Amino acid sequence: MARELNELARSAYALVPWDRERRQLPLPCPGCDLLTLVLYGGQEWVSCRNPECGALLSWADYWLAVQEQHARLTVLAPRMTAPTITGVAA
Ligand SMILES: [Zn+2]
Repeated sequence: MARELNELARSAYALVPWDRERRQLPLPCPGCDLLTLVLYGGQEWVSCRNPECGALLSWADYWLAVQEQHARLTVLAPRMTAPTITGVAA
């Protein structure tokens, strides 16, 4: 259902472009891994702007993806810190 509505909205916008509110989202798309996820005003789903992907996510799916990304970054964070020098007196 969301996919059909998204296609209709995309077709309507192609015919009569109007200035629609668009919020770029910071998470990479789970479908194509590009930073192309957006939320258009009045829509209840997150859509990918990459025409070759066209992924649609519900807010629940987007929230889960945010949680997974956060967990991944939390695990990576200790390795990203600068190495410490051991055995050197302060
Ligand atoms: Zn995508």
